[in-house]
Amino acid sequence: MASLLERPLRAAILAAADSPFVQRTVSRYGMQLGARRFVAGESTDEFLAVAREVNARGFAVACGILGEGVADRAQAIAAADHYCALLRTFAERGIDANVAFKLTHVGLDIDPELAFENAARIAQTARECGNTMRLDMEQSRYVDATLAIYRRLRARFDNVGYVLQSYLLRSMDDLVSTLDLQPNVRFVKGAYLEPPAIAFSEKREVDANYLALVERALASPGYTAIATHDPAIIAHAERIIAERSIPLRGRFEFQMLYGISPALADALVARGYRVRLAVPFGDYWFPYLMRRLAERPANLAFFLRGAFSKR
Ligand SMILES: Cc1cc2nc3c(=O)[nH]c(=O)nc-3n(C[C@H](O)[C@H](O)[C@H](O)COP(=O)(O)OP(=O)(O)OC[C@H]3O[C@@H](n4cnc5c(N)ncnc54)[C@H](O)[C@@H]3O)c2cc1C
Repeated sequence: MASLLERPLRAAILAAADSPFVQRTVSRYGMQLGARRFVAGESTDEFLAVAREVNARGFAVACGILGEGVADRAQAIAAADHYCALLRTFAERGIDANVAFKLTHVGLDIDPELAFENAARIAQTARECGNTMRLDMEQSRYVDATLAIYRRLRARFDNVGYVLQSYLLRSMDDLVSTLDLQPNVRFVKGAYLEPPAIAFSEKREVDANYLALVERALASPGYTAIATHDPAIIAHAERIIAERSIPLRGRFEFQMLYGISPALADALVARGYRVRLAVPFGDYWFPYLMRRLAERPANLAFFLRGAFSKR
């Protein structure tokens, strides 16, 4: 979340993420500008090499093919096919990775039924491979549809998870409404621009709601993914886990984004926690990069340095 100075900058960067002109300009420089810090590469082989390296460092992986807002049915089906193929590859090669994807990558903007069918295919393949999958959470206009699809999947599969964003005012109600399903929930602060009518705007409110959500989830049956790079929130979560004697395996894990706060991630592994890094790959990296820049506008500096040092 941004301080007062960063908020307009964050808003400007997130607005730029929707600009075809900015996308064309940035994409002309390709990965070497800075995206490679956050993205494993553009090909499956580049991803698999990074996934192995990350596993060797003691981390599990959440694999994400970069893609969202797909308007073509065949493209949506192909994305789901790709996830199914990856799950089989992970099983064949003993790679400790699951998959997490956006429903708009598998057809939600085209037809919710198509997105459900594609997500169910991925869940079925994950089950056949003894693995799990997660639905990422996108902009607030998709929350209801994502929760509806999660509930339908959860009625058939016990290996599916979803995400709640602590900046949304509704998230505690959404969590409580799914507790009877013993859910696998990832908690994040939220990476999109949302209006004050539906979202907390102060960092301290977003952080307080994040902790309240995690405490509520850890007090209930299910699995909790604590996805943040915030040292204060991580320390608080560690205290709760110790105070309640929650076992280090089977009830929760910490999660971070590939390329962010590596020292903190390594320290958590060294302290015996299960830690999963979300490792994205693919050629549609622009929106993902812009969200990472918006989270920490200071990242722009090394991004621009990269741009001008290339001239
Ligand atoms: C595993 C995982 C999955 C996610 N899935 C989703 C999702 O489905 N939907 C969604 O809306 N959001 C998702 N996010 C993004 C999330 O909402 C936040 O935008 C992101 O995690 C940054 O917030 P933070 O919790 O690290 O806290 P912040 O308060 O933003 O940051 C805490 C500290 O972390 C470091 N940091 C954070 N971000 C960056 C960055 N970009 N570059 C460098 N340092 C940084 C800084 O040191 C900062 O001081 C996900 C995040 C993770 C870790």
